[in-house]
Amino acid sequence: MWPELARRGITAYLRRDDQLSSFYSGNKYYKLYFNLRNATQQGCSNIVSFGGVYSNHLYALAAAGSQLGLQTTGIVRGYDSVPLTPTLNDAQNWGMKLHFLGKKDYRRKDITGVLPILKKYSDNYYLLPEGGENLAGIRGCMSLAMSVDVTVAEKLGNTDYILCSAAGTGSTLTGLIAGASDRCRCVGISVLKGEDQLTPKINHWLSLLGKSNKQWQLFTDFHHGGYGKTSPELMAFMSEFEQRNQLLLEPVYTAKMLWAIEQLAKINYWPENSKIVAIHSGGLQGRRGFDLSQDV
Ligand SMILES: *Cc1c(COP(=O)(O)O)cnc(C)c1O
Repeated sequence: MWPELARRGITAYLRRDDQLSSFYSGNKYYKLYFNLRNATQQGCSNIVSFGGVYSNHLYALAAAGSQLGLQTTGIVRGYDSVPLTPTLNDAQNWGMKLHFLGKKDYRRKDITGVLPILKKYSDNYYLLPEGGENLAGIRGCMSLAMSVDVTVAEKLGNTDYILCSAAGTGSTLTGLIAGASDRCRCVGISVLKGEDQLTPKINHWLSLLGKSNKQWQLFTDFHHGGYGKTSPELMAFMSEFEQRNQLLLEPVYTAKMLWAIEQLAKINYWPENSKIVAIHSGGLQGRRGFDLSQDV
């Protein structure tokens, strides 16, 4: 139910990847899939990755590691604090080893800052970039696009549609663009503030995949102040959307994406009779980082 869109003759569908699993929900499952396979095939005994104290990615990695019997290590941006955030507490309970790096060291995470820490454990680690942003992660998201395409064909027939996704690292969006059929146009909503560093990055990945010819678009004006930041308007929108549709969102990604879809409808950006499929990329565990008590 979405009156602002229905009024304009636009049909919107929400792809519920939040229901995939509460542990590795949404896009994180797709980004981990080929990475975990690579790690096991390469005989790596420890998967190391990076994230913040509410990271959906570290949470998903820790859960998957415990299910598959793989050691995981989380390099966390921030200082060791007691108590741990619920996210890190869960991750630790699932066996993830946590290491904290201050902001400056964290920025150098891919090279110098982290190697001595890793050496402490073993040389046999699989280095998974922050947010699962690598070719294997993107390939996993290509399968998400293909799966959406099959569902759309089954439910709506041979129709053109628009696929919307929130973008953090942009690897999910890249996978969707690369994997989508020609009937589909992808639109990404950046949740980050500042210079648009995503567009060149996405173009780079797409050219590696031989998919530079795809049509897509990224919006960068719907971040509400930056990563993890919210506004009263966003929170009110989110809570109303949740109640109207009897589902849960979170303010970092999915609420911003849906907000953007509505704002774009108001300025008549979407062509009349558009069919929009928005990806609910999960991340509901991250709600624990916000005070949402008023809507319980
Ligand atoms: C990580 C995440 C994203 C962003 O995915 P990227 O591939 O980094 O762009 C979007 N939504 C949710 C819920 C996430 O947890």
